[in-house]
Amino acid sequence: MKRLLFLALAACTPVIAAEKAPSAKTSKGRPNIIFIFTDDHCEQALSAYDPSRITTPNMDRIAKEGMRFNRCYVTNSICGPSRAVILTGKYSHLNGFVRNGNTFNGEQPTFPKLLQKAGYQTAMIGKWHLKSTPTGFDHYEVLIGQGPYYNPPMKFRQPDGQPGTRKHTGYTTDIIGDLTIEWLKEKRDRDQPFLLMTQHKAPHRNWQPGPKYLTWLDDRTIPEPETLWDDYEGRTSAAREQKMEIKAHLSPGDLKLRTPGGLTPEQRKTWEAAYGPKNAAFEKARESMSEKEIIQWKYQRYVKDYLRCVKSVDDVVGRILDYLEEAGLAENTIVMYSSDQGWYLGEHGWYDKRWMYEESLKTPLLARWPGVIKPGTTNDAIVSNLDFPETFLDAAGVPVPGDMQGRSLVPLFEGKTPVDWRKSFYYHYYEFPGAHSVARHYGVTNGRHKLIHFYQKGEWELFDLEKDPEELQSVYGNSDYSAVQSALKAELDRLRAELKVPAEDPVRPPKEKRRGGKPKKAA
Ligand code: CA
Repeated sequence: MKRLLFLALAACTPVIAAEKAPSAKTSKGRPNIIFIFTDDHCEQALSAYDPSRITTPNMDRIAKEGMRFNRCYVTNSICGPSRAVILTGKYSHLNGFVRNGNTFNGEQPTFPKLLQKAGYQTAMIGKWHLKSTPTGFDHYEVLIGQGPYYNPPMKFRQPDGQPGTRKHTGYTTDIIGDLTIEWLKEKRDRDQPFLLMTQHKAPHRNWQPGPKYLTWLDDRTIPEPETLWDDYEGRTSAAREQKMEIKAHLSPGDLKLRTPGGLTPEQRKTWEAAYGPKNAAFEKARESMSEKEIIQWKYQRYVKDYLRCVKSVDDVVGRILDYLEEAGLAENTIVMYSSDQGWYLGEHGWYDKRWMYEESLKTPLLARWPGVIKPGTTNDAIVSNLDFPETFLDAAGVPVPGDMQGRSLVPLFEGKTPVDWRKSFYYHYYEFPGAHSVARHYGVTNGRHKLIHFYQKGEWELFDLEKDPEELQSVYGNSDYSAVQSALKAELDRLRAELKVPAEDPVRPPKEKRRGGKPKKAA
């Protein structure tokens, strides 16, 4: 029956989609929008979702005063592509940015351009990571490429519209926070509503903490996930063939066994005072440690550095929320917090992202909008980064182009999830061959079951997410699941047709070899 309904809905989709009708609420007036975005921040390291490793009081404040989404999926779990999806409201195969190393075509329509045209002042501060110069922003100051954790050179829009560069001294997360507050306080035109996208490098690899948190957590042991010792049995060859294992693929730089380059003498001194004694203790003990103990040490070092980076972002989130209060802006400003994808904090023995498995398919999403979102609410609907641009346009009362492929979250904000909200979700990852050797795959999930196709290998996986939430045992080909399997295959075909996924991958190899993301020599 459900399938028939899907088919009927698919048949009703017009060939040339008209603009989408706005949600009812937008008579409230035009809200400001602040989009706070991080790189590789997972729910396991955000206490509104999971308080077992870290407390993030400021991010939690957005959840407490707003809404926490429990199932926000990304369409392609990797940095650049996620950003392109958010700007365009289109899947990677349509916006042209399918893998890191591609260059974003800034000529295409984006939601900041549409807001700008509708009288919004638009600003982009922090990590851009799309190679081309930002378009659609009255103001930008962005990291160049991945950007370093300390002393970043940044590209900014000069008064004549041309890009210039300047170098900052300090910790990048704090600098992005400073530039954000500075723009809000001094640079924006107070007569216009604004869109401010403030985007962090943190907590991206290689997890260099700020000066304030270099020794934070030294006295704690972070719990190990149950799947840290995963042996990859029960799945296809793909899970075994990756290169993102804590035990084998972290470099000496990742593990801070070397002092990072690019620090000022003073920063270097502070860094070495923190890591020197820790590293000396490890080197001394190393000879007598078992292989398992060394992996456990690597896990602690890696996760703590990651959490330290998150902690600095949380501080900056607090500064932004405080400033909004102070300036009387909090009431009429939407604050949305999210990350470009989720991440592995040792689950399956991994760091990194890319997979359609839960930890990297999901991303945090918190939203506060006083008077619209009821404080302290949660939502379990399948939402996506694909929905963000339509949400912003809808909230601003700006018509949504018919060819955007997501849906506005404004009704969900109001506590009224439409009955015809999506019940399934299409995912597609392309970056193979590439960093960390994760095979190309696409798949479909309805939140209860998940079907994944490693199409270059001709291998499939099917997971029962209720019985096997950690996705350790594929039930593909199991006769108990034959009905589920064929229904999901049909749904996959339907979604691929509806979303206009081409039969051949639109993958162009990156023009120049990537730096930074490749697995380096293991420690
Ligand atoms: Ca990322």
